[in-house]
Amino acid sequence: MSRKFIPSANIANLKESATLAVAAKARALKAAGQPVIDLGAGEPDFDTPAFIRKAAADAVEAGATRYTATEGIPALREAIAADANRLLPEGAEPFTAAQVVVSSGSKQSLFNACMACFGPGDEVLVPTPSWTSYYEMLELARATAVPVLGDPNNSLKVTAAMLAESATPRTRGVMLNSPCNPTGAVYTREELADILKLADEQAWWVLSDEIYLRIAYDEPATSVLQLAPARDRLIVINGVAKAYAMTGWRIGWSLAPTAVTRAMIAVQSHTTSNPAAVSQHAALAALSHVEQADAAIAEMMVAFKRRRDAVLNALGEARKYAVHPAGAFYLYLDVSSYGGDNPGARFAEDLLEKHQVAVVPGSAFLTPNWIRASYATSDELAIEGMRRVAQLLTSTEPS
Ligand code: GLU
Repeated sequence: MSRKFIPSANIANLKESATLAVAAKARALKAAGQPVIDLGAGEPDFDTPAFIRKAAADAVEAGATRYTATEGIPALREAIAADANRLLPEGAEPFTAAQVVVSSGSKQSLFNACMACFGPGDEVLVPTPSWTSYYEMLELARATAVPVLGDPNNSLKVTAAMLAESATPRTRGVMLNSPCNPTGAVYTREELADILKLADEQAWWVLSDEIYLRIAYDEPATSVLQLAPARDRLIVINGVAKAYAMTGWRIGWSLAPTAVTRAMIAVQSHTTSNPAAVSQHAALAALSHVEQADAAIAEMMVAFKRRRDAVLNALGEARKYAVHPAGAFYLYLDVSSYGGDNPGARFAEDLLEKHQVAVVPGSAFLTPNWIRASYATSDELAIEGMRRVAQLLTSTEPS
């Protein structure tokens, strides 16, 4: 007799990651021979730079095949601290390795941070739209995610005043992500400074996810670290996945006060232990050969910018529906003209079925009128995919 599986209360409301689900569906359709253009996953299509691959191969030969310290190898933690210290204003107290935890992707760093800082009864402000996993991670920590809808006239960004309005006595923190997934918006220095000031006054935790920091087109994106913030309630998260084209290596990290770092290490010590040893050595090469890495990133940025411009061009008239893509590698498009309860989901479904293009419905980011298209794919596919998006979108415009 087979008995029905009833999920535990921990995950009763958990939804599978929509970004990964779209990627899996596109992969399955391609494997079945369908010529699907995948604008779903946010994954650079470049190879990991050769000097990093070589360092990893050498590390395996040299025996990097065993457990490491849960929090990561000392040399990598030091390289991460040094990388962050380059952003700090003169005179700011430098980070040390003791404030760094290396994890299996920045996703795990974010999860560790949510588990360490938030719990039942806590509310956390989430500028919306935000990456799908923030909402679910907060719920897994049994905290309450409070979406704060961004201003459509300002690239769907939130202001300090909007956050203050959504706060209650139970508010404990705010999630930041600039450049932003899914919108591609980039917060200005002033916008970030205002939010940090409010958070400091309110003693909120700030979790700043800076995984797209190096991917900005109009001007360099600002890290919260450049603003000399109070650091006793600040956790900065980053990783090698996006800028260094290292998604599959799964290396992310957190920079946090020492006591928080210890708590995050404890969480990790009972879940995944150390991230893969070989991947840590690859990340160490990426962070310690700064000139080589900068050159590789600059080369990828030329391609990303060319694609960003090309997809905007391919959108033609439909460009007016897009948030200005100033960073990351996503276009966020208002498809409300498609109508119905969840226009983004219907649009994404029709686009895949009738036009073989995969995108992520905006409902994954709590904004059902929108869709997210990633242009982290070849120029040719990005342009053709976006042309089909534009075609479907303009066909639904009221005449
Ligand atoms: N962060 C990327 C995305 O939003 C990769 C998939 C995921 O982990 O969500 O597409």
